[in-house]
Amino acid sequence: MTRTRQLHDSFDTGLVWFRRDLRNTDHAALYYALKHCERVWCVFVFDTTILHPLVDTWQARHPGTQAQDRRIEFILASLAELDKALRADGGGLIVLYGDPAELVPKLASELQVEAVFANHDYEPAAIERDETVHERLAEAGREWLTFKDQVIFERAELLTGQNKPFTVFTPYKNAWLKQLTSFDLKPYPVETYASHLAALPRKLDRRLPTLDQLGFAPGNFAELDLPAGMSGAQHLLDDFLTRIDSYAERRDFPAARGTSHLSVHLRFGTVSIRTLVRLAHEMSLQPDGRGSATWLSELIWRDFYFMILAHHPRLASGASFREEYDRLRWERGPEANEAFAAWCEGRTGYPLIDAAMLQLNRTGYMHNRLRMVTASFLVKDLGVDWRLGERYFAEQLNDFDFAANNGGWQWAASTGCDAQPYFRIFNPITQSEKFDADGRFIKRYLPQLGKLPAKCIHAPWLAGAERLAEFGVVLGQDYPAPIVDHAQARARTLARFGK
Ligand code: FAD
Repeated sequence: MTRTRQLHDSFDTGLVWFRRDLRNTDHAALYYALKHCERVWCVFVFDTTILHPLVDTWQARHPGTQAQDRRIEFILASLAELDKALRADGGGLIVLYGDPAELVPKLASELQVEAVFANHDYEPAAIERDETVHERLAEAGREWLTFKDQVIFERAELLTGQNKPFTVFTPYKNAWLKQLTSFDLKPYPVETYASHLAALPRKLDRRLPTLDQLGFAPGNFAELDLPAGMSGAQHLLDDFLTRIDSYAERRDFPAARGTSHLSVHLRFGTVSIRTLVRLAHEMSLQPDGRGSATWLSELIWRDFYFMILAHHPRLASGASFREEYDRLRWERGPEANEAFAAWCEGRTGYPLIDAAMLQLNRTGYMHNRLRMVTASFLVKDLGVDWRLGERYFAEQLNDFDFAANNGGWQWAASTGCDAQPYFRIFNPITQSEKFDADGRFIKRYLPQLGKLPAKCIHAPWLAGAERLAEFGVVLGQDYPAPIVDHAQARARTLARFGK
């Protein structure tokens, strides 16, 4: 049974299952559980149906080495903080490892709880998992109660005048802003009922698993400037609020710290979307609120893509949003495979593309402008199926979120809803000149081009071997020659889509 804000029953005992909502403030499921149950336990499950494929993918790419994944390290650090916060209120976090569809009903029965509480998830696989949990709980006479938490408007809460789901962003955004009331942004005052947290039963009061026990080795997470947990989110938010007024002007320039870097926190719910939207909305109404209004739009894009996925679950099976584009014939064979490998590894010979891919590979983050440009390059310069790029981003991004990633890829590939028209093709050189004019971002990741003047850095091969040698660069030795000619690729793409 799915319920939202009108929950009247009360229970003696309840269990809150944390998934992508790793915080103990302004948390819908936790609030309702504490309000409606005398005693509440909390659980997080390291889901082996997700972890095992991560290990397999890593081992296919790096045979014989132990898997690394920055997201697991981020989750572990965030869980440690959440556990501490729950313990400070008399509770604690039970952490399990296995298939949650089995473990959650089993734990509910061990603890003899009357109801299990969780927040909605919109990915088809998660919905199926939740249905299984619901059935198993129901068989044992327990309630399954779920709540909207990670978006402002979900599923069919916001429809067009014809009662249809939106497929175009701007009218969606306008309707979203029109429908928004202070009620939608009200925080859930978890603290009011925090005394209902139950102490962990002794046999479940264990230390958090180590990275090694989860099957992973440490990567470079500790070296990244990526604070985890609720405190990390707060730190990034405080920092961003000092810069939000210049967001509209600075957000497109990857060398600048113009954006919030909160995406990974939104992904794992270490910050509440209501907190962020409340701040952005209030500030956007101020006379100098352009930066906040632009940022609010980005948060609305996030809701938009969750809504699109909820209405079109076939997207999770690899379908193009625009079905006619499922017939596109992508490049295949050894040359296409090599082009894809060069793109993944940042050796296409286009400095902005390569620097962006190195940023992704080394940090798990890529600036939004560069996500658009690299995605476009893969699809429209290399002719490679967007699904391969989507999957690569899914493996690498700390903030990987199926809805936003699929939406972004289909936007760039022109196969999606409200996508870039196929004949509008990013030119990787002019994008570089415009958004990294002096090559500051490029040089951060490609130090071998460090001496090149701005004039040569966007397309080094055009400078000629002699000039490049003056700056210590030999193409094909220090840096690759371009693997594709943009003008020719553009013509091939127009032909591919125009058929
Ligand atoms: P800010 O500019 O500070 O934006 C604030 C928040 O708004 C972000 O944290 C994010 O939650 C949301 N947001 C911003 N832009 C978008 C957008 N276009 N679509 C949906 N939400 C948005 N975002 C992800 O969170 N996960 C992904 O897996 C993801 N994959 C992408 C793939 C492609 C090909 C493209 C073009 C975009 C993708 N994005 C994804 C959207 C966007 O690039 C990131 O959200 C953003 O770069 C994160 O940086 P930030 O937190 O500093 O963003």
